[in-house]
Amino acid sequence: MAFVEHVAPDDRGPAEERPVRPPFGIRARILTPLAGGGFSFLPDGLLEVGETGTITRAEAWAVDTPMAAEISPVLDLRPLVLLPGLIDLHAHLPQLPNAGLGAGLDLLTWLERYIFPLERGFDLATAERLAPQAFGLLAAAGTTTAVLYGAVYEDSLGACFAAAERHGIRAVIGKVMMDRLRYDPTVDDSEVLDLSLQQSQRLIERWHGRDDGRLQYAVTPRFAVSCSADMLRQSAALAAATGAYWQTHLAEDRDEIDEVARLFPEAHDYVDVYDRAGGLGARTILAHAVHLSQREVERLAETGTRVAHCPSSNLFLASGAMPLARYLEAGIVIGLGSDVAAGPELSLFSVMRAGAYTQSGLRTMLGESRPPLKPLDWLRIGTIEGARALGLEARIGSLEVGKEADFILVDPSATAPIEGQAMDEPSDIVSRLIYRNRPGMIRGGWVRGRRLAT
Ligand SMILES: [Zn+2]
Repeated sequence: MAFVEHVAPDDRGPAEERPVRPPFGIRARILTPLAGGGFSFLPDGLLEVGETGTITRAEAWAVDTPMAAEISPVLDLRPLVLLPGLIDLHAHLPQLPNAGLGAGLDLLTWLERYIFPLERGFDLATAERLAPQAFGLLAAAGTTTAVLYGAVYEDSLGACFAAAERHGIRAVIGKVMMDRLRYDPTVDDSEVLDLSLQQSQRLIERWHGRDDGRLQYAVTPRFAVSCSADMLRQSAALAAATGAYWQTHLAEDRDEIDEVARLFPEAHDYVDVYDRAGGLGARTILAHAVHLSQREVERLAETGTRVAHCPSSNLFLASGAMPLARYLEAGIVIGLGSDVAAGPELSLFSVMRAGAYTQSGLRTMLGESRPPLKPLDWLRIGTIEGARALGLEARIGSLEVGKEADFILVDPSATAPIEGQAMDEPSDIVSRLIYRNRPGMIRGGWVRGRRLAT
């Protein structure tokens, strides 16, 4: 095989082969949710990736399977497991250096103390230094698609896109827009709205849809506290006119909700603020949505608006416990977000664990009677449901023929409490990835069959 590299996963084992770019075939255990519902687990499977980075086979291994010359020999990576790459619907690139700091502060104080100073300093040079590292760390955590907020600066956002383009990760990124409570005093109040729209427009023209859609743009008003009604409306119009996504935060924290009610007295509730701006719909990703009325839940469901569930962040900042089961029952499309740096870790397996504990808390302390999600349900939310939230469920999110080969390789033995313990049940494998996740368990990530640097 031409395109193989040898990697030493740690200092104990021998170097192992990994495909670098397609075409190739991997023999391994293959576990994936299916886009049409349910799961597939192949204890001895073949994942074949064609020249263009598309999955050409995902099937049980058979000794007599005829292989094309260019993918022979097939790499045998058993007993490692192939999963779809994880999809992080919400994180803040400039904030990564402060991950894990400021626990116990309320949202608005935490922003002032730990976040705005970092974002203010996220200039071109800082972005050029940090963004490549951030993409490597995301890949090392098993994330192959990341939806990100940058800082307010156009050139620094451009550097983030350029780094993502070089790295190979699939990314949706947006320049943060704010015309209230700003951290860039060099721009006059009277100019900030027009300037921010123009900068976003230029970035969309340059980057949205790049590399056959691997890179996309999200118009990114920070949230209603730091955006005027005008900015919300015009940013939503820009997203609609260009086909970009629109992302912002919703109902994360009680104080924030009170502040939004004060700033937008004409709105029925928080969701209505974005509704009046024309911001709801299937291309919109709202992070958090922790505290919603029944009316708001129904409105998000009927408009097809997507929610990025960020349970580790919600626990870290004591924002609240999102009633996930209730929202799913209402029909809202929900994926997961690490929300770094309000979430302390990039790993979506850590986020799943925080989410599962949150659901247990809702049941034991707050009378939630709906059944809890099981490990495979969490894997589904972190993969195919994240893809659905982005409207990409036909392209990524599961390991099925015809899809683009975004996948990760995991070593379940790294999660075993006792060395040498075999795990054969898919739900057991995923349970340990969630509840006993370890940095060393992710052994590689690929987007369109191209190996991501970690
Ligand atoms: Zn956030």
